[in-house]
Amino acid sequence: MDYPSYLALPKKELKRRIDKLFKILESCELCPRKCHVNRLKGQKGYCHLGYLPMVSAYHPHFGEESVLVGSHGSGTCFMTSCNLSCVYCQNYEISQLRIGKEVSFERLAEMMIELQNLGCHNINFVTPTPQVPAILKSLEIAIEKGLKIPLVYNTSSYDSLEVLKLLDGIFDIYLPDAKYSDDKIAQKYSNAPNYFEIMKSAIKEMHRQVGDLIISNLKSQNSKLKLKSQNFGDIPERVALRGLIVRHLVLPNNLAGSEKIFKFIADEISKNTFLNIMDQYMPYYRAGEFPELNRPITQEEFQEAINLAKKFGLKRIYY
Ligand code: SF4
Repeated sequence: MDYPSYLALPKKELKRRIDKLFKILESCELCPRKCHVNRLKGQKGYCHLGYLPMVSAYHPHFGEESVLVGSHGSGTCFMTSCNLSCVYCQNYEISQLRIGKEVSFERLAEMMIELQNLGCHNINFVTPTPQVPAILKSLEIAIEKGLKIPLVYNTSSYDSLEVLKLLDGIFDIYLPDAKYSDDKIAQKYSNAPNYFEIMKSAIKEMHRQVGDLIISNLKSQNSKLKLKSQNFGDIPERVALRGLIVRHLVLPNNLAGSEKIFKFIADEISKNTFLNIMDQYMPYYRAGEFPELNRPITQEEFQEAINLAKKFGLKRIYY
């Protein structure tokens, strides 16, 4: 049985990676901000986090992509804080006001087991980037307690390549945002220098690790991708098993730069990428300070984004 992937990873190897990640916290370079603070000694960088897990909420979530939700929900852990500062963030209480609670590694492991016991199809870590060491340390405990559902890495894609490489063989499903293709715009609305290049490298690495999305009950596709369906155990529903799901939120006035993003995905990732084009932008939080962001998108803007994705030959568009 080699599914989820973390069950196939030797315990010693998981421990080696955890040690390496905690070492990084001594002069934090967990994400591209490279704050170089010692988080083990209580120093705080851009994300204001320590070394213990900090969680804002956890529950079965039915608002994610249907292949993550299935019938019993995606077991979502909303990790507190974020390494981006999007002025329109719909979760700003969690990401920027940092409303949440620091918990022990054991407690986060228990949350995972509780979600599994509720029948959730996966453990979905929202904004895991600044808390990867704590998540893996808790995972080690959760495995001992019987965790056996796949992990989802639900990220803004402002991730360090070196850290992502340490996650190879641990997360089965990567759920990255592809937010902007223009660095000036990324800087203005999310305070994210070099976002486009960082996002592209991160998504390439995620795809290298897990490939295109494989969904249960698609036996022909599984065999084409040389994955035996029995390796995934008894999964009767149509749920995501392993692979990449890219999210793109369409912004008003084409501020997300959708065309360049779709071209990148089609040319440099795969035309078979499972791409969720999202229309739910609303001017939350500080968006009212920016007139160009201060409205929902129009039907025409959304249709234009869909047409662009199709133009580049992307075949698995979800909306
Ligand atoms: S994880 Fe936090 S402290 Fe570490 S580099 Fe990123 S923002 Fe800075």
